[in-house]
Amino acid sequence: MVDIVIVGAGPAGLSAAINAVTRGKTVRIFSNKENYLSKAERVDNHLGFYNISGKELMNKFREHAEAMNIKIEEGKVVNILPMGESFMVNINGEIEEAKKVILAMGISKVKELPGEGALLGSGVSYCATCDGMLYRGKNAVVWDQSKEAAEEAVYLSGIGVNVIFVSKNARPQIFNDNIKYINGTISEVVGNNKVEAVMLDKEKIMADAVFMLRDAVAPAALVDGLETEGNFIAVNRNMETNIGGLYATGDITGKPLQLSKAVSEGLIAAQHAASQIDKSEK
Ligand SMILES: Cc1cc2nc3c(=O)[nH]c(=O)nc-3n(C[C@H](O)[C@H](O)[C@H](O)COP(=O)(O)OP(=O)(O)OC[C@H]3O[C@@H](n4cnc5c(N)ncnc54)[C@H](O)[C@@H]3O)c2cc1C
Repeated sequence: MVDIVIVGAGPAGLSAAINAVTRGKTVRIFSNKENYLSKAERVDNHLGFYNISGKELMNKFREHAEAMNIKIEEGKVVNILPMGESFMVNINGEIEEAKKVILAMGISKVKELPGEGALLGSGVSYCATCDGMLYRGKNAVVWDQSKEAAEEAVYLSGIGVNVIFVSKNARPQIFNDNIKYINGTISEVVGNNKVEAVMLDKEKIMADAVFMLRDAVAPAALVDGLETEGNFIAVNRNMETNIGGLYATGDITGKPLQLSKAVSEGLIAAQHAASQIDKSEK
C-alpha cells in the first residue's frame, strides 16, 4: 500500500507529488498522455518564468519531480473504489491500494452517451485488460477514441472475444480478418440491466459489451458517488471531495483554468492528505 496515489501528471498532479514527498509520504503518480500545458506556445503568467513555452515549463516540472525520485508512471486510472480507510485504484487492470487519492486529471471533456452510465459494469467497460475475459466467445464493440484502441481490440480478439471495431479512421493495418470493422460513431448504448446493442446513427449493432476506450474517464464514472458541479468536481478549501480521503485539484475543480491555480491546489491537497495520514498514525 502507498500513502497517496495521484491521478494525472500535469502541473496539479506533479505539485501534489513533490509536496507529498516533501512531507515524507510515499506516492505513485499515473498519467496517460501529454497534458494541456505542453500545447501552450507561450506562458507569461506563472511567477518566476516569463516568456517560456508550455513544453519547456512541463519539462522543468518533470525534472523537478524526477530530482526528488518521483517516477511518473504511464497508465490510465479507470476506477477508484473507496474501502473506508483506504482506496483500491485500478490502473488499466493493475490494482494499487492507497490511503489517500488525489485526482488531478485536467478538464474533463468526456460526454457520456445515453445508456453508458446506467450500464457501466453491465457490459460497458473502460478497460479491455480488466474486463476482456468476461466476454470470451461473446460479441463486443470496441469504440475507437484513443490511440491505444486498435491494440486493445487486437488483445480482445486474441483472448477469444468477437470484436466489432467502430471507428471514424481507416481500418487499422494491425487487424487480422477476425476483427470486424465498421466506419462510424456510436450514439447510444442500448439494454435493460445489461448491454444488448449500440446505436450507430440509426443502425442497431447487437453486442454483449462495449469497450469505450477514451483517453479520459468522466469523473463521476471513475468513482461512484462523487459529487460534481457540471463538468467539474466539487471540493472544499482543503481540496477534499465529498468522499473522505479523496481530493481533487487543478482544472478538474473549475475556473480559473490556469497553471498557477493548479499548482497551488496540488500543494493544498497533498499537505492536507499528509497531515491526515500523520494524525491517523499517531
Ligand atoms: C493552448 C493552451 C495554452 C495555455 N496557456 C496557459 C497560460 O499561458 N497560462 C496558464 O496559466 N495556463 C494556460 N493554460 C492552461 C493550463 O495548461 C492548465 O490550467 C493546466 O495545465 C492545468 O493543469 P492540471 O494538472 O489540472 O491538468 P492537465 O495539465 O490537463 O493534466 C492532467 C493530466 O492528467 C492525465 N489524465 C487524465 N485522466 C487520466 C486518467 N484517468 N488516468 C491517468 N491520467 C489521466 C492527462 O492525460 C493529463 O496528462 C493553457 C492551456 C492550453 C490548452
